[in-house]
Amino acid sequence: MGWVLNGAEGWGGNAVVNGRRNSRRMQQLRAEFFAEGKRLDADPATRPASVCWLCGQRIDYDAEPGTTNESHELDHFFPVSTNPELQEDPAGFRHAHRLCNAKRGNRAPRPGLGRIVSAWW
Ligand SMILES: [Zn+2]
Repeated sequence: MGWVLNGAEGWGGNAVVNGRRNSRRMQQLRAEFFAEGKRLDADPATRPASVCWLCGQRIDYDAEPGTTNESHELDHFFPVSTNPELQEDPAGFRHAHRLCNAKRGNRAPRPGLGRIVSAWW
């Protein structure tokens, strides 16, 4: 268990070369990111920071993440398929609808499809 990091080998060898990990760490980050979005959504003053970054609409934070089309999913600004080394970097996390995230797939966001980076980032 756990990563053995040293300067010479960087990311602890080749445990994951391509593809996403669903590590305990990532599960925790997902849960924390969802909780943050829910907190932001609860206050109208901060709600704009909690909307779906792909379509700009509110996310259903009452639903369990990933259970309905309107529920929350953690999306990555840089797709994990192309930037697996950034998967656990919170700077790349974005709040998204499950459906919007699924539609986006591994494509980079299209210009004009919502706000790429909101004013809060
Ligand atoms: Zn959306």
